Amino acid sequence: MTASGEARAAIVRRAGDPVTIEPILVEPPGPGEVLVRILATGVCHTDLHAKLGNFGTQFPYLLGHEATGVVDALGEGVTRPAVGETVVLAWRAPCGRCRFCAAGRETFCVQPLTAKPRLRTADGQTLGRVLGLGTFTTHTVVAATQAVPIPAGLSPEATSLIGCAVGTGVGAALYAAEVAAGSSVAVYGCGAIGMSVIQGSRLAGAGRIVAVDRVARKLEWARDFGATDVVDASAVEPIARIRELTGTGVAYAFECVGIPQTLQQAMASCDSGGLCVLIGVPAPSAELPLSLSRFFYARGHLKATFYGDCLPSRDIPLLAERYRLGDLALDRLVTARIGLDDVEAAFAAMARGEVLRSVVVMPAPGA
Ligand SMILES: [Zn+2]
Ligand SMILES: [Zn+2]
Repeated sequence: MTASGEARAAIVRRAGDPVTIEPILVEPPGPGEVLVRILATGVCHTDLHAKLGNFGTQFPYLLGHEATGVVDALGEGVTRPAVGETVVLAWRAPCGRCRFCAAGRETFCVQPLTAKPRLRTADGQTLGRVLGLGTFTTHTVVAATQAVPIPAGLSPEATSLIGCAVGTGVGAALYAAEVAAGSSVAVYGCGAIGMSVIQGSRLAGAGRIVAVDRVARKLEWARDFGATDVVDASAVEPIARIRELTGTGVAYAFECVGIPQTLQQAMASCDSGGLCVLIGVPAPSAELPLSLSRFFYARGHLKATFYGDCLPSRDIPLLAERYRLGDLALDRLVTARIGLDDVEAAFAAMARGEVLRSVVVMPAPGA
């Protein structure tokens, strides 16, 4: 960043427009905030939703919410993290004060912490930030609690994914569903989140992990991440196939796409008393047609999760440690390393189902 506070960022001027690479102005961090130099940041489906204006977004808009960086400066009153520490950014940092936080249910926090809007376009417009972060930039300002320290020396590309896809997927298996050892699992949608659900289920000791997708390449990847069986939903009817494979249906089904049809399929793949977890972000207009009678007699369970019910301050260091120990394969989730200028092309590759994660790697300062 220049002395006058100029950074370089990928922003969207209007809903549906392509991303443009522009200089932006970054104010110094205020009380309780830190300035972060971004090292690497992943391109997530939620960025695509935001880019299309699906969140009632305030444009112009800074995309990106999955990143590893280094703390460059502290605002007033900040004692943690320290300048120079490597951090993974959290898009949901509980406030510690609202009625849910006070009751120890921080994953339901109604006032997650973010920095004040401190980023502007060169022509002076305040930038909206996806999920209260905005990481497709060389520098950003976040609430100090959004910057969670991890050990230095780990791959920034790999650890960036802990901030969204990996926390969400692994957390969904370990916390939202509490997958039991020896149980059976179905995962609908094998992108970076689905692969992380598969890895989380493997860590939980699931006996059978069935991956469902319509893209053959993704099903091959799913086997590498620990799926014991794969179902190509473009060729066979997945519910019947899952019942055939398991004899009964699964104890846990995860929907990682966010559309009614796959949610119906995931629910129908469950055995009696099974739990279906909705992870994919639905469109505002999406509705679920549901046979109440079938749901009743199956004694169904359906729940939705944000960020896999992870607590960033607890789980980001834990997931980084599991990566360091080799328990979590994160490097293989990074299927493309790109520059900031390639973000628009990365959205196109995502839409074509060619990648698990494209990750923007920022050049070293002075490079
Ligand atoms: Zn995301
Ligand atoms: Zn709260």
